[in-house]
Amino acid sequence: MVSPSADLVYLTGYNAPNFERPTLLILPQRGDPLFVVPQLEADKARAASPDIEVRAWGDAEDPWVVVRAGVRNDARTVAVSDDMRASFVLAIQRTLSGAQLEAAGSLMASLRQYKEPDEIACLREAAHRTDVVFDRLRTETLAGLAEPEVADLIGRHLKAAGLTWKWSYVCSVASGENSSSAHHTLSARTVKAGDAVCMDFGGKYGDYPSDLTRTVHVGAPAREFTEVYAVVQDAQEQGVRAVRPGVLAGEVDRVARDVITRAGYGPYFVHRTGHGLGLEIHERPYIVAGSREALAVGMVFSVEPGIYLPGRFGVRIEDTVVVTPDGCERLNLSTHELCVVR
Ligand code: ZN
Ligand code: ZN
Ligand code: ZN
Repeated sequence: MVSPSADLVYLTGYNAPNFERPTLLILPQRGDPLFVVPQLEADKARAASPDIEVRAWGDAEDPWVVVRAGVRNDARTVAVSDDMRASFVLAIQRTLSGAQLEAAGSLMASLRQYKEPDEIACLREAAHRTDVVFDRLRTETLAGLAEPEVADLIGRHLKAAGLTWKWSYVCSVASGENSSSAHHTLSARTVKAGDAVCMDFGGKYGDYPSDLTRTVHVGAPAREFTEVYAVVQDAQEQGVRAVRPGVLAGEVDRVARDVITRAGYGPYFVHRTGHGLGLEIHERPYIVAGSREALAVGMVFSVEPGIYLPGRFGVRIEDTVVVTPDGCERLNLSTHELCVVR
């Protein structure tokens, strides 16, 4: 049973709101699927998924009676989507009291992590348009802008590039000492000369996002920044070069991490090397130490090593790649060279 989520979009094409009125795709092991939707959304659901039988329920009806009628009596195990509201999960448990509930997340992730050609085309387009945005940004004057103003500027450029962008999407602008926090989003701090500025951003093309990080320097950088930048640049490059079918996700992390460790900055690379990218900005496969997941053609993920020196500065470079039969295609092509901005 799948409620409004990226899983539902993947299976039906219907991007339903996750409101209090239950919308539920019932997908039995055998037999036809059934889509239980609120009356007032039935037309939209039918238009998005013409192959699936839609059963609408009105506000005066009990949707769980409709759900009960749509499930075989001998249903023993029901997998529910990871993002399902707790109130729906509890209602399913009450409605199908003989069934065991499980999480459907890993099953869905194992389907979604192999991208179809049309999904890759959307991700590629999103990435290329985001590259254009960075090319514009590196010619802008950032000094004097507060971090949210830089984010707003990024958002305007993303929209001008034909991508959807909302404040709720990934966008982090970390300037000066803020860049030493790998999890910074935005503060009121104003960018000034001498700052590193780490910008992590993306927009959506159709249902598919981009996710790019570049770290620029305002004015001429000191030698240590240049050195750290070169280490991250090398780690990112080696990580991308390690990508090919059959290689374990953990191996890509190891290759990137080794470059940073050998340079003496190992303790300052405080996160995994990357994450899958698809209908959601973070999904499988995770490029993390120890992962035994074998990379395969059609997987799309980020390679984004970083070094964060507490209280001083941080550098991260992030691109998205897709696994191909002989290695990978880089979806982002904007420069990795250190960009000095005003
Ligand atoms: Zn990012
Ligand atoms: Zn990312
Ligand atoms: Zn992220």
